[in-house]
Amino acid sequence: MIAAVGDLLVDVGAVPASLGLSPDPSAPLTKAVTHMTGTARPITIVGNPVLHTPCRPVERYDEELAALVEDMFASMYEAEGVGLAANQIGVDLRVFVYDCPDGDGVSQKGVVVNPTLVPLGPGERNLDPDDEGCLSIPGPRAVVGRPDRATAQGFDVTGAPVTVHGTGVLARCLQHETDHLDGMLYIDRLSKAARKAVLREFEESRDAL
Ligand SMILES: [Zn+2]
Repeated sequence: MIAAVGDLLVDVGAVPASLGLSPDPSAPLTKAVTHMTGTARPITIVGNPVLHTPCRPVERYDEELAALVEDMFASMYEAEGVGLAANQIGVDLRVFVYDCPDGDGVSQKGVVVNPTLVPLGPGERNLDPDDEGCLSIPGPRAVVGRPDRATAQGFDVTGAPVTVHGTGVLARCLQHETDHLDGMLYIDRLSKAARKAVLREFEESRDAL
């Protein structure tokens, strides 16, 4: 089964069909209520300089930041995404949001401002090659090998420290979104030939529209 999960497009064949649905039946309602204030914005596309330049650190934890995060959630949900970086809606600030299943298939949701990934220890680095895609390169997908776990540290919208431990799709998501904020797309992690193939497929699908 292929799930179009927005920013990250992943093959979820090994994951139960309930993927993306929280086991808590009240969760979808909570999600809708929490993010009714946000406005979905257009997604930036590969080639736009904002995607290829490192984002600036957030310095003010104010209403503007809170509003940005609401818009990011709205944009992510409209695109049926599991993660979204601020530069994917054209804002060059180090912020990402996620609502993404972990290794147990349980949805985890949150925001990380000024994220850094905690380096993995020598015995912790197990590469997990899996399909990946990106809303900023709509259409194609490619296999990217990434560590099967990740920990992101940063802050919430109020400036309080947060730490997110990720396994499964969430591990991939934390790494993919942090890459975005460093000005990097998943295709930058591919071989030259694989990168070219992804971009060709993207161009062809765009020309067909
Ligand atoms: Zn992406």
